[in-house]
Amino acid sequence: MQTTLRNFTIMTGNITFTIIKPGAVSHEHIGDILKMISEAGFSIAAMKYTKLSQIQAAYFYNVHKERSFFSGLVEFMTSGPIVVAILEKENAVEDYRKLIGNTDPAKAEPGTIRKLFAESVQRNAVHGSDSDSNARKEADFFFSKSERFDRDGNFLELVPAE
Ligand code: UDP
Ligand code: MG
Repeated sequence: MQTTLRNFTIMTGNITFTIIKPGAVSHEHIGDILKMISEAGFSIAAMKYTKLSQIQAAYFYNVHKERSFFSGLVEFMTSGPIVVAILEKENAVEDYRKLIGNTDPAKAEPGTIRKLFAESVQRNAVHGSDSDSNARKEADFFFSKSERFDRDGNFLELVPAE
């Protein structure tokens, strides 16, 4: 039997990284959120159901370590299981930030994921990367190369972030 090895390269600008946070998971919103993601034209390049340790959550949100909300955020993010995923689409980072809406659900546009499913600024349903380089770093933190696929099922080779 012949095995064909295929390669696929995708620009980092075409992926973003998301977390469905513990509050949205415990309120059974995984399906609704994934449906919105899919209907907005994103495809899933990687996905897992997992739970963060304190060290993982602190590392992930390290940029906010001096903020007053940091310890509460780490406590919340480790309080239950989450879904982590890499999403692929043209202009993924910007388009996904639009789909999720403002960090504060009170300021989020109607129809956004956070407007629909966030409980508060902290328990705001989902994470979305804020830049191409952070999308790449976050994707690398959660998924190995052998866990990421393009739309045809080939391994998704991410171009190094600039
Ligand atoms: N957060 C919080 N209190 C705040 C601001 C943010 O608990 O006053 C939490 C919230 O869960 C948010 C996360 O910290 O999603 C990261 O904050 P950031 O400002 O990066 O917002 P995001 O990029 O998630 O919109
Ligand atoms: Mg952020």
